[in-house]
Formats: sequence, structure tokens, C-alpha cells
Amino acid sequence: MALVSAKVMLDKAYQNGYAVGQFNINNLEWTKAVLQTAQELNSPVILGVSEGAAKYMTGFKVVADMVKAMVETLGITVPVALHLDHGTYEGSLKAIEAGFSSIMFDGSHYPIDENIKLTKELVAKTKKLGISLEAEVGAIGGEEDGVIGGGEVADPLECKMINDLGVDFLAAGIGNIHGKYPANWAGLNFEVLSAVNEISGDTPLVLHGGTGIPTEMIQKAIGMGVSKINVNTECQLVFAAAVRKYIEEGKDLVGKGFDPRKLLAPGCQAIKDSVKEKMEIFGSINKG
Ligand SMILES: [Zn+2]
Repeated sequence: MALVSAKVMLDKAYQNGYAVGQFNINNLEWTKAVLQTAQELNSPVILGVSEGAAKYMTGFKVVADMVKAMVETLGITVPVALHLDHGTYEGSLKAIEAGFSSIMFDGSHYPIDENIKLTKELVAKTKKLGISLEAEVGAIGGEEDGVIGGGEVADPLECKMINDLGVDFLAAGIGNIHGKYPANWAGLNFEVLSAVNEISGDTPLVLHGGTGIPTEMIQKAIGMGVSKINVNTECQLVFAAAVRKYIEEGKDLVGKGFDPRKLLAPGCQAIKDSVKEKMEIFGSINKG
């Protein structure tokens, strides 16, 4: 199956009260683990790629071509969207050109007028090409590729202004944080989520920073219009822990245990287990 825009899968999720996971990929192993799990569980999936990860993989074109080829060679039949995560305006144009099927333009650090102007331009471009567009209002806390936010919550009126430009789905800060959550975290702000969902009509909402939010909060948010949940840090943590265990047990020193295909296998399995757990919580299994 060719890559698809994320609009149809997220509209369907919004209408039916579940969420589709965006799992960020970093390399071939990550991509393979996420795709295989989605197929095994018959779940739609969004592969997220930050500009930093794309640069690491030597460019948007390499990523797009690898993902397309892997979808074909693995015989993946569930819907797969390849999504730019937290794109700049220039990065968005480059990812579109390389063949990404979905874009997040993050203009949240600009004054609202500038965010509106640039988002509007990208709405026009992506609509013409059948590519889905996510926009963001208000900084989300934590750090992602050097972009730091203070855990702010979005202004619902600004959300309406961005939503009304015709974006396909909307990320709004509701007290969520990228990376690990601090012990004294106040939790998600459901009052703001409710106001944003109310004011933005049928637009699916996006929850960033999906690592470490308690399951009950995640599911409550899904019931209030959150249809896309971004997971990045979690897969990194479980991958690192599994590879660390393999090495600490000295398995790389036994026979051909140093073979990267063996060395990285426990990490890949850990990603698969984690993706499966998230898909169960999000309710996307058998929605492919
Ligand atoms: Zn994010």
C-alpha cells in the first residue's frame, strides 16, 4: 500500500473515539519494528520524523524512499502516513518535495500573526497535493531537537484562529511535556482541552509528549477529541535499556554476539512491545 495522508485515518479515529499513534523513527530498525507491529495488530500508524532525525538519516529523500520501499517489501497493508514532526517552514517544503504524506508545521514559537500567515500558505500547498497538515498553537513543554517550551497551555481563541485556516489536525498545549515528565507534574489540563475541542469543531486534536502520561489521562483525553498521540522518548528508553542489558550480560562477547543484527535485536523487540502496548491503550488495534 502506498503512503497515505493522515487525514482520513484521524477523522475516522475522531468519529469513533480512539487515537492513532505517531511513533518517531530514527533508523531502519525503528522503522521496521513499528511497521511490523502495526501490520501484526492491524492498526493504522503514523511514522514521525523530526528534522534532526531526517538529517541523521542523511535527508528527507532517504527517509521517504526507505519507508516506501519497506512498506512494499514487508507487504504492509494497514494505512501508513509518513509525517514530518515539528517542521520549520523550509523543512516542510523539503519534506513535501521528498514524498512525505503528512506535515506538521510548528509555528508555535512565532507571534500568532506570523504563525497564521505561514500556516495558511502551507494549508494551500498541502491541500493541492492531498497531504495532511498539522499545526500547533502554544508551546508544549520540554525539549524536542532543541526547541524548548515551558509547559504552557494554549489559548483556545488562538486555536480557533489556526483551526479555521483549514488545518487537518491541531496540536494545542494542554500541560503536556516532551521527554520525561517531572515528578511534580500537574497533569493534563482537561478544562483547556475541552474548550479547544469545543471551539475547533470536528478537527482531530493531537497530544504531543505521549511518554509517561498515565493511561487514565490518555484515555480521558481520547474521549475529548484527541485522535493522534505522539510517542518518541518511550521507544528510545526501552531500546537503550534492552541493548544495555544485552551488553551488560556479556552476550556481545559470546560467539558472533557482536553482529549488529544480534546486538540490536533486543532493542527492536523492546520497541515492538512498547508500540503494541501503546496501540492497545489508544484503541487503534483492528482499525486498519
Ligand atoms: Zn512534539
